[in-house]
Amino acid sequence: MTTAFFWDEQCFWHIGEGYALTYRLGGHVQPMSVGGLPESPEAKRRMKSLIDVTGLGRELEYRHARPASRNELELVHPAAFLDTFKQLSDEGGGELGLRTPFGKGGYEIAALSAGLARAALFAVLKGEFDNAYALTRPPGHHCLPDWPNGFCLLANIAIAVEAAFAEGLASRVAVLDWDVHHGNGTEAIFYDRDDVLTISIHQEHNYPTDTGDVQDRGAGAGEGFNLNIPLPGGTGHKGYLEAMERLVLPSLEDFQPDVIIVASGYDASIYDPLGRMMAVPDTFRQMTAMVMEAADNLCHGKLVVVHEGGYSDVHVPFCGHAVVETLAGSNIRAVDPMEEVTNKRQPGPEFDAFLSQWIDGLRKSLD
Ligand code: ZN
Repeated sequence: MTTAFFWDEQCFWHIGEGYALTYRLGGHVQPMSVGGLPESPEAKRRMKSLIDVTGLGRELEYRHARPASRNELELVHPAAFLDTFKQLSDEGGGELGLRTPFGKGGYEIAALSAGLARAALFAVLKGEFDNAYALTRPPGHHCLPDWPNGFCLLANIAIAVEAAFAEGLASRVAVLDWDVHHGNGTEAIFYDRDDVLTISIHQEHNYPTDTGDVQDRGAGAGEGFNLNIPLPGGTGHKGYLEAMERLVLPSLEDFQPDVIIVASGYDASIYDPLGRMMAVPDTFRQMTAMVMEAADNLCHGKLVVVHEGGYSDVHVPFCGHAVVETLAGSNIRAVDPMEEVTNKRQPGPEFDAFLSQWIDGLRKSLD
């Protein structure tokens, strides 16, 4: 089995200033002496480093990619938005939308991030690799065509999908988003389409606070091709696997995609500052194994994983390693020294029963 890993050091050079965590500086919000916006290079760079240190990297094919072209960006984003973004970026940086600051050259770095997702998808669709991981930064799943938000400057996965459609490489794509936040951008871009199934598992009303409801199933031709799985805060390992088993896998099977793309955020981690969930590395390992089996059964194993959020700089690398080692069919494990503790902190039987009922409720509202 060959797994490609697309990355670029330049993506770690994207900077965004003017924040302390998600608080905009000003008034009573003190600037931080170290850090600022939680979307920083640290978690992603440490994940890549961990993959090198454990030796997993030697079992992968490391790849770079060209930036997404202007024509490819325009498959999703209006020309006027791209012009404004490029101009601000050339002039030294700025901010458009909500919580999406960027520095000089931020436009080019965002296009490169989208290019990593595009190249990973193209390589898998062309049969060059069994599956692929794209370590994209900035992330993409919140970005709307003309309104970047939630640290996402361009809609990486949507750009990759539209580029693949334009080249005739695929005609049915399923996007499964397990970032703790709702994949509102991907949902909006494909909301009235029946050729892209969008599924988002997320903490209910975390971010955005007003999207991601189970009733939002798509519109027009896209009716039934959007699936939201909002879960209560506190959901842990068992809850995630139950949601996968009972809601995600049947939906993928019904849709019969040509390829499955996972928008893989790691902010459902038990240590994440922006989520209130309790996932551990083994949660990501097992979700990856489940979606690989689905891809084997439905689309010759064609699977692409694209990095989204994840703000526990120390825990993200262990969660991400679990995903990549599973994709590669590797026996190499990264030892998470806190795993025994986090396993003991999982929700108890009462919560598990509550969560099963919650999922029963979601299934009923889908009928
Ligand atoms: Zn997120």
